[in-house]
Amino acid sequence: MRAYRMTGPGATAFVDVDLPEPGPGEVRLDVLAAGLCHSDLNVVDHGAGAAWALPFTLGHEICGRVAALGAGVTGVALGSQVLVHAPIGCGKCARCHRGSANYCDDRRTLPAAGVGLGVDGGMADAVVVAQDRLVAADGLDPVQAATLTDAGLTSYHAVAGSRDALAGAGSVAVVVGVGGLGHLAIGILRAAGAARIVAVDTREDARELARWSGADLAVEPAGARAAVGRIANGRGADVVLDFVAVRATLDLAVTLLRTAGDLVVVGSGGGVLEIAKPGPLPAGATIRLPFWGSRGELAEVVDLARSGAIRARTRAFDLRDADRAFDELRGGGIVGRAVLTP
Ligand code: NAD
Ligand code: ZN
Repeated sequence: MRAYRMTGPGATAFVDVDLPEPGPGEVRLDVLAAGLCHSDLNVVDHGAGAAWALPFTLGHEICGRVAALGAGVTGVALGSQVLVHAPIGCGKCARCHRGSANYCDDRRTLPAAGVGLGVDGGMADAVVVAQDRLVAADGLDPVQAATLTDAGLTSYHAVAGSRDALAGAGSVAVVVGVGGLGHLAIGILRAAGAARIVAVDTREDARELARWSGADLAVEPAGARAAVGRIANGRGADVVLDFVAVRATLDLAVTLLRTAGDLVVVGSGGGVLEIAKPGPLPAGATIRLPFWGSRGELAEVVDLARSGAIRARTRAFDLRDADRAFDELRGGGIVGRAVLTP
């Protein structure tokens, strides 16, 4: 079968590999759709995950159809459509046991971060995963559904940590960076009770996507302070989610935050944030650095998608055009999420 693999620093290639056989407790999925995440660029181009063994097949946002069952697998129907909860943990700690491998106690030393992030993922005709990673997704459009597993799940988990801040009357939320994750975060924020949502992006087509996704205002970074001030009666935002997190966006985010507001750093841009007392952050601020989400939360995201509260803007590429999809994401040419279909 075909597999799109990371073969070296900065290098990817299609490789012909044997169809993988599921071991005990595992299933083989025929891949229906695999999303392309900005994190894939961080891994391929910028050395994130430099300690992982190469090569491995990319693709950590997977929707597939169950095609073969390993020994001992029960309760999984051949032919059913599923999503993969892809974060990898040690499998032994309390967090892993409750489905939160994203916060495994051994995260810093694990040999891989997820299916498709250090071990073979979904940018292939098929993938083998453990049964306990599966979340049912029958009836959903596979291209839409694939985006829920990271763009949706990470945004959902990021917003979930600020539920209290969003529950107040007239709450204001800001989304910085309206890409694959950020545009889904807008619908998720609305569902979580955000009264007003301001989106910030450097690209006009991303700002258009923000409006399509339900943002009240979508502005360039230079216009963000004035926009938030206007919408929040001069108070600042209850929650700012930064899906870029370079120095410039973190500096901006700090200026948009209300006293005792939540700053949620989701992007992996590597920007440095000054934490000092006194310092630039408002009194009472909370800062979180969420990573991905739990399997239970993925099931909740699927429910949210079924309710119609979130809808991804997707652009499907044939798997054989993976190089072109990566290049377009690199060049800022993707609006919403690029998804590969074998
Ligand atoms: P994306 O490329 O689809 O979207 C990024 C968006 O940010 C684009 O619309 C771009 O125009 C905008 N942008 C870039 N620079 C900007 C700036 N200076 N000001 C305003 N907007 C700017 O990326 P994505 O796949 O949505 O991922 C977003 C980030 O989240 C990446 O850094 C990715 O690595 C990270 N990520 C984190 C987690 C996690 O668990 N915390 C999970 C997945 C992705
Ligand atoms: Zn990702």
